[in-house]
Amino acid sequence: MTQTVQLTREILERLGAADALQEAGTMRVRSPIDGAELGRLVPHTTEQTDQIIQRAHSAWLEWRNVPSPRRGELVRLLGEELRAEKQALGQLISLEAGKIISEGLGEVQEMIDICDFAVGLSRQLYGLTIASERPGHRMLETWHPLGVVGVITAFNFPMAVWSWNTALALVAGDSVVWKPSEKTPLTALACQAVFERAIARFADAPAHLNQVLIGGHDVGEQLVDDSRVALLSATGSTRMGREVGPRVARRFGRSLLELGGNNAVIVTPSADLDLAVRGIAFAAVGTAGQRCTSTRRLIVHSSVREALVARLKKAYSGLPIGNPLNQGTLLGPLVDKDSFNGMQSALQSAQADGGKVFGGERVLQDTYPNAYYVKPAIVEMDRQTNTVRHETFAPILYVLTYEQLEEAVALQNDVPQGLSSAIFSNDVRETEVFLSASGSDCGIANVNIGTSGAEIGGAFGGDKETGGGRESGSDAWKAYMRRATNTINYSRELPLAQGVKFDV
Ligand code: NAD
Repeated sequence: MTQTVQLTREILERLGAADALQEAGTMRVRSPIDGAELGRLVPHTTEQTDQIIQRAHSAWLEWRNVPSPRRGELVRLLGEELRAEKQALGQLISLEAGKIISEGLGEVQEMIDICDFAVGLSRQLYGLTIASERPGHRMLETWHPLGVVGVITAFNFPMAVWSWNTALALVAGDSVVWKPSEKTPLTALACQAVFERAIARFADAPAHLNQVLIGGHDVGEQLVDDSRVALLSATGSTRMGREVGPRVARRFGRSLLELGGNNAVIVTPSADLDLAVRGIAFAAVGTAGQRCTSTRRLIVHSSVREALVARLKKAYSGLPIGNPLNQGTLLGPLVDKDSFNGMQSALQSAQADGGKVFGGERVLQDTYPNAYYVKPAIVEMDRQTNTVRHETFAPILYVLTYEQLEEAVALQNDVPQGLSSAIFSNDVRETEVFLSASGSDCGIANVNIGTSGAEIGGAFGGDKETGGGRESGSDAWKAYMRRATNTINYSRELPLAQGVKFDV
């Protein structure tokens, strides 16, 4: 038994989630760290999936009548349980998704933060009071629980995306059915076990408020097509969203799509290059370039290009690559062989288009023959080709050059995705143009920080092929509730709106 297998088993035992592992299971879960098989699971059948959705629906019928501050108490308890198991959960993220340990712990912290946010929110699900045009009338809007929320998640944030959805859904009065990525089901089972601990401390919660569905995209499709699922929140590739969005729309369901990004950083002549190098390196190389918000394009002014690229290459050359569980490692593995192949073919295409490639080679294959560690790549391009416009989920940073800021903004926006963006500049005119209506078209636009590492307080998501959904902070909770407009007549007359007469 390798160290990864042993540690995974210990963590699952500790959390009470080891029973799900079954020798006869057809779904094999591997660690990106060494390729070892961490365990096997039995996917849910069509009938079981149907029962799970039915149970979630019954849970919602009860939960919607529990006052929202009381619902918030359950989320507060969940936050406490997550705090108690932060170390174990963070390690499990490293083991199953390959993130460096500090990012694994950061992901758990993000879950704790969203629980805190949702607890406060449970007392702030405000509606408006609106002036009525009719005398003796009052008009207001109220927000009600929506129903079952189906949550489909990607491998790269195997816990946090569930928590963003679930903490909000629970205070909103909804129940949750979660289909995690087939690459990271163990982290989901661990979260479920921690959730059960919170439920055990909460006196009056209905059973089945949160359930995990194990399986591949076929199980996900059943969730997508089921009209008992009022909101389908799906995080993953644009390819997935293209299938899921129209299917949910066909049954007039609600969908919240969080899809791919192709995020750029603009560096202007006035930029603080020390800051820019650190911000770009973290955003381009962190999580081995496997964040939806990873920086994939650098659009740099010709006057600072040479200096910046030289400094980035130097920073890249000194990066500690290796086992993500070891303190000091900054770059862990890619998730699997397909991901490695995707990276190599993107580099070949970029080269064929005239790109100059630095890095990108496989390393550590003697120590880890079944895992895929790479040097991060910098590719200098003389134009934005289709390869650059495509999201390759790996640490590749394409470098493009500009002369006028308008040109930089146009390049930044000239991709199908619209998730995250940033500018490094000390010129207020430049930064304000970037943030203006004719600036970045992304859901996230930052100044003097990188494109990744968002806080939970803001609404998270992007437009165009990123799907248009918003999760997490701000007023993202509204997606998890239904709105009713109420008009109340307390007069003895029945005036009709717009002066219409209809006397009978
Ligand atoms: P993926 O699209 O391969 O899979 C994501 C999930 O969708 C998995 O659970 C998968 O089983 C499910 N799925 C796939 N096809 C489906 C279908 N037809 N019906 C129902 N479910 C289906 O993505 P991945 O490789 O796990 O993750 C990487 C991608 O996710 C990248 O494109 C990344 O940018 C994106 N992502 C986006 C965000 C965001 O918030 N915008 C966050 C994380 C990841």
